[in-house]
Amino acid sequence: MAELERTQRHAPAPKDWTYAPAPESRDVVRIAERYGNFIGGEWVEPRDTYATVSPSSEEPLATVAQGTEADVDAAVGAARDAFANGWSELSGSERAKYLFRVARILQERAREFAVLESLNGGKPIKESRDVDLPLAAAHFFYYAGWADKLEYAFPNRSPRPVGVAGQIIPWNFPLLMLAWKVAPALACGNTVVLKPAETTPLTALLFCDVLRQAELPAGVVNIVTGDGRTGAALVDHDGVDKIAFTGSTEVGKAIQRRLAGTGKRLTLELGGKAANIVFDDSALDQAVEGIVNGIYFNQGHVCCAGSRLFVQESIHEQLVEKLKRRLTTLRVGDPLDKNTDVGAINSAMQLEKIRSLVQSGVDEGAEIYQPPCRLPEKGYWFAPTVFTNVAQSYRIAQEEIFGPVLSVLTFRTPDEAVEKANNTPYGLSAGIWTEKGSRILWMAQRMRAGVVWANTFNRFDPTSPFGGYKESGFGREGGLHGLEPYLRFEE
Ligand code: NDP
Repeated sequence: MAELERTQRHAPAPKDWTYAPAPESRDVVRIAERYGNFIGGEWVEPRDTYATVSPSSEEPLATVAQGTEADVDAAVGAARDAFANGWSELSGSERAKYLFRVARILQERAREFAVLESLNGGKPIKESRDVDLPLAAAHFFYYAGWADKLEYAFPNRSPRPVGVAGQIIPWNFPLLMLAWKVAPALACGNTVVLKPAETTPLTALLFCDVLRQAELPAGVVNIVTGDGRTGAALVDHDGVDKIAFTGSTEVGKAIQRRLAGTGKRLTLELGGKAANIVFDDSALDQAVEGIVNGIYFNQGHVCCAGSRLFVQESIHEQLVEKLKRRLTTLRVGDPLDKNTDVGAINSAMQLEKIRSLVQSGVDEGAEIYQPPCRLPEKGYWFAPTVFTNVAQSYRIAQEEIFGPVLSVLTFRTPDEAVEKANNTPYGLSAGIWTEKGSRILWMAQRMRAGVVWANTFNRFDPTSPFGGYKESGFGREGGLHGLEPYLRFEE
């Protein structure tokens, strides 16, 4: 006792609670200086190239291919050959073996992939380590399980693969989006040409190494990197039977127009402007955590982000106060630091878009709050932001910002909450916070959104279908529903 008292006297309580840096080692991943396209199981030397950078430091990480029409043509040719010469006729249990192998290798190499994802995309390592990688592996495990059970999934309908799938993915969850697309396509017996986003190609290129390790037959998965022109060449190619696209509503609409009348199948997973609705009977501290996770997870680069917060008027002041206090504890900085909560914005272009929309919020009359935080000098950064005093007509309440920016609005009755939440061209997700189960069900039935979370937000699971209404797109990924877009049925 005396010893304890002495120690306490000599150790004054620390005044500064800042964390010591806890950086993850970069050495666990080896980045090549230069990458080609992965076509027919081989690296093909590129004609054109560009540099991919780290958004947190602006340092160039590698030179990668700017895929041309000829590269896309070669990749589609390889995918067609692989489809015709074995893959589409392989038994489901044989296809499953490859998918299980890919899943296990992803688990084994998770640390390497997580570091690369954070380096190339700017997201905090704790998210790539605890969310992106486990979920990517889980998708391969899940769809491996379906590969030999398609007849049971769709009884009396004789499911057959569609053919070659052209898949175009965005930069916010590079490896996870790859998994969402590649796993169901292969489980159903299709072959694939995938184009990663221009700014985040590196984990898809490392994935080619996994495919080789898993001894996947050559040409079953081909990866062509490049910008929107490469994506457009893939969309337009006659040898592609299906396009699966995740990205902006604008590009999604353009793709839909181009494919009209071609007979090619299409699924679109587009933007969102989700309502996160908090009733006065909810557990407020829990709701604050859900709000923070809903909008600041992955710097708000999330299509289903809870970017519009609707708070019941009676608790508005109290909730905003709690939220602001919580924001002061968010650590913004080095994505490879295990303590970091909010990493770097993905690109200079995206940072510019966020800045201009935030400026429009200020100009239109909303009240802005940003916690005091020192942003690094190099790289692309934006402080977590909350807008109060927001009208529904403001651009920050209407448009997808795709950044760490929350707009707070209020409501008085459940009817008003429904009306306001659905007042958007999008319909991807929604959140409801209340202690009453009956109110959750009442609200969920009225939300025009593909996914509705209750007393939680941003929860993902491979068994659960994900997709949108209205301008958020069509088609579902995940679950049994996620198989259908990759199958045709011989009734
Ligand atoms: P895009 O829709 O442009 O990009 C998505 C993917 O499509 C990328 O691989 C992109 O290539 C490719 N692409 C671009 N143009 C074409 C085309 N004409 N034909 C075929 N493929 C194409 O999104 P951005 O990256 O430009 O982001 C812009 C905005 O979109 C963001 O600010 C955000 O609001 C929203 N967005 C929404 C996402 C979602 O998940 N809902 C994901 C990403 C963005 P490249 O990378 O080279 O442009």
